[in-house]
Amino acid sequence: MSAPVNVDVKLGVNKFNVDEAHPHIVIKGQPDSAVLELLTRACPAGLYKKQEDGSVRFDYAGCLECGTCRILGLDSALESWEYPRGTFGIEYRYG
Ligand code: SF4
Repeated sequence: MSAPVNVDVKLGVNKFNVDEAHPHIVIKGQPDSAVLELLTRACPAGLYKKQEDGSVRFDYAGCLECGTCRILGLDSALESWEYPRGTFGIEYRYG
């Protein structure tokens, strides 16, 4: 029998250099709430978090740069999606 995989532990091996001055993903002022809801389930890093009041909170720190939210939400929920500027973003590590 194989051991269960702990995703948080696996993701914790990676290193992030967060660009505090320039968010590489920006949510629209009036996002499509159904799409935001979808992103709470689609983001592999769990960065779109549903709050108790039903709103969705997003923090781009910890982004895996997979592009899932770009494909699902650009124009409807997201104002912009770019890769982080040079030297910023995720540095993948295996472990
Ligand atoms: S690019 Fe991927 S990891 Fe980053 S916020 Fe979007 S869905 Fe989540």
